Amino acid sequence: MADATVSCLFCRIIRGEVPARKIREDEHVFAFEDINPQAPTHVLVVPKKHVAGLKEAQSEDAELIGRCQLAAAEIARERKIEHGYRTVLNVGPGAGQSVFHLHVHLLGGRHLSWPPG
Ligand code: AMP
Ligand code: ZN
Repeated sequence: MADATVSCLFCRIIRGEVPARKIREDEHVFAFEDINPQAPTHVLVVPKKHVAGLKEAQSEDAELIGRCQLAAAEIARERKIEHGYRTVLNVGPGAGQSVFHLHVHLLGGRHLSWPPG
């Protein structure tokens, strides 16, 4: 079976093969600026382990998903957008998922309406 990580865009960003504006990195998680920001803060937080998306995640990925969410919360604190921000996982093409490496969007710095589109 082909190794999904070879051509995966976000795996390539994590390996430094594709340039990105990195914000932080630890053993488990990597965060960088979205190339097409939808808000003044639009950061993507991804697990270093390749997981295609939320519906492909397994119970052993639970801690990793939590780490992505907590990293987003820390970045929001650093950016002083705690008054109101959103973390989003788009799941499947019907919800706008276009990159099949699990990622948490952190959006903030402007009013965010509800429900989302
Ligand atoms: P989604 O549509 O939920 O799969 O989110 C994918 C996100 O990745 C989009 O918001 C894109 O703007 C973003 N994106 C695509 N290519 C890059 C890139 N090379 N560097 C940073 N963000 C990217
Ligand atoms: Zn990947």
